[in-house]
Amino acid sequence: MTEHPETSPRVRRTSTTLADGRELIYFDDSEPYLSGTQTREVVDERPLDERPTAGTMRLDALTGDWVSIADHRQNRTFMPPTDECPLCPSGGGTMPSEIPAHEYDVVVFENRFPSFASGSSAAGTSAAGASANPLLAHAPAVGRCEVVCFTSDHNARFSSLSPTRARTVVDVWADRTRELSAIDAVEHVFPFENCGEEIGVTLHHPHGQIYAYPFVPARTTSLLQRATEHHQRTGRLLGADLLAAELDAGSRVVIRGTAWTAYVPYAARWPVEVHLVPNRDVPDLVALDSAERDELAEVYLDLLRRLDRYYEGPDGSPIALPYIAGWHQAPVRQGRDVSRLHLQVMSVLRAPGRLKYLAGSESGVGAWINDVAPEAVAARLRQVGRAADAL
Ligand SMILES: [Zn+2]
Repeated sequence: MTEHPETSPRVRRTSTTLADGRELIYFDDSEPYLSGTQTREVVDERPLDERPTAGTMRLDALTGDWVSIADHRQNRTFMPPTDECPLCPSGGGTMPSEIPAHEYDVVVFENRFPSFASGSSAAGTSAAGASANPLLAHAPAVGRCEVVCFTSDHNARFSSLSPTRARTVVDVWADRTRELSAIDAVEHVFPFENCGEEIGVTLHHPHGQIYAYPFVPARTTSLLQRATEHHQRTGRLLGADLLAAELDAGSRVVIRGTAWTAYVPYAARWPVEVHLVPNRDVPDLVALDSAERDELAEVYLDLLRRLDRYYEGPDGSPIALPYIAGWHQAPVRQGRDVSRLHLQVMSVLRAPGRLKYLAGSESGVGAWINDVAPEAVAARLRQVGRAADAL
């Protein structure tokens, strides 16, 4: 068992190994595990194949972007029946799950079908072809992909978690960012959640993922370039100046807390998009202090619950919003002095039952067209917050 002072004493961290050698970590915030009265000693007895090794990534010579070619992922679990959920605790369903224990609080484990993994695959390299042409470059997709199960309750959503559990997830994100950033090959760590069938989730169980990439991804590179230019020109942080500008304008601010602010971005791309930013300059989740983590749990739950009331069905009942939530952090090895942490929450739902598709303009040339005024989105999110206060 390994513990870190930062996740103790409110969370007990126990690292174990699954049958194929992948790591699984329990983060316990309740008894009898929190105090150590009971320990995590369950063994994964499934007859699993060898742990997955890294696939291949290819360089798109036209854009300079890396593309992971993960054809083994075609075989991954797709919409299993509830009693075969691989993220539920073992023992409840008809087959053993990825989590050997009969119950858990929060669990992290290495993805069984990863886009990035440790070790190299000879098959992956030969599949890419031993081309000597530098325009057809490839490299092992070395890194790590992890799954974060927010709760053992199959029918929960992040928005239905208790503040205590959400706070544990914040600690887990920070713990994983710190550990994954220490891997030699890793250049960027991205915790995210896909929620809702409209987003393309393949498992209903409430969970997020963390990708540790061996390169700085395209959007991160773009954010870093703009932040660097702003810093060179003004000596200040772009993220901090943007927060000040949004607070000054006021019309797009949704939540203003002591440590966090949520606002709809001025040039929002998605029909529903909100950025949640710390009021203090911090590069990543690891740098958040205890008070900031406490408030993040509260504010993020408030934001998600507002989003779940954003649309209403014909009978006036709220429609749970499908969304993507992703943490933009400073890259591991560059631009840490100019980057500023923020969460981006976005949805493709542009009206009840109507999805925005990334079509010609967005997919073809990356030129976004948004049919909704960001100020109207912010006004609606403020309104549904007040409605909840009145209940
Ligand atoms: Zn489940």
